[in-house]
Amino acid sequence: MKQKFQNFMSGRYGVDDFSKALLYATLALCLVSLFTRNRMLNLLLTAGLVFIYYRMFSKNYSRRYQENLWYLRQKDKVMHFFRRQNSLAQQRKTHRIYTCPQCRQKIRIPKGHGKVQITCPQCKTAFIKRS
Ligand SMILES: [Zn+2]
Repeated sequence: MKQKFQNFMSGRYGVDDFSKALLYATLALCLVSLFTRNRMLNLLLTAGLVFIYYRMFSKNYSRRYQENLWYLRQKDKVMHFFRRQNSLAQQRKTHRIYTCPQCRQKIRIPKGHGKVQITCPQCKTAFIKRS
């Protein structure tokens, strides 16, 4: 039995990060559908499962690989956004972040120095703010 399955799967794409993400999304939809009984949701679930199996059993390696790369790029963009927001939240504990009124450059000033004159490093515009 195991040998038959291995023969069946040889040359097929199998599971990658995109498949796993689709599977988690489908499982989440499955949980939602338990409480809603929405026909469109069930249709979406079925389509998701069919697509996951289609990708797993596909023999078009390059196409599936490109899809996975696309997914990883999108995931990286999202993760970058959240890492940046987390970093800004950490910096706000010790710094104030102002935007230059002239060129919109973000300027980071350490907290606790009272009113200070800030000179934009990019356009040299000076403005006064509390630090
Ligand atoms: Zn500026």
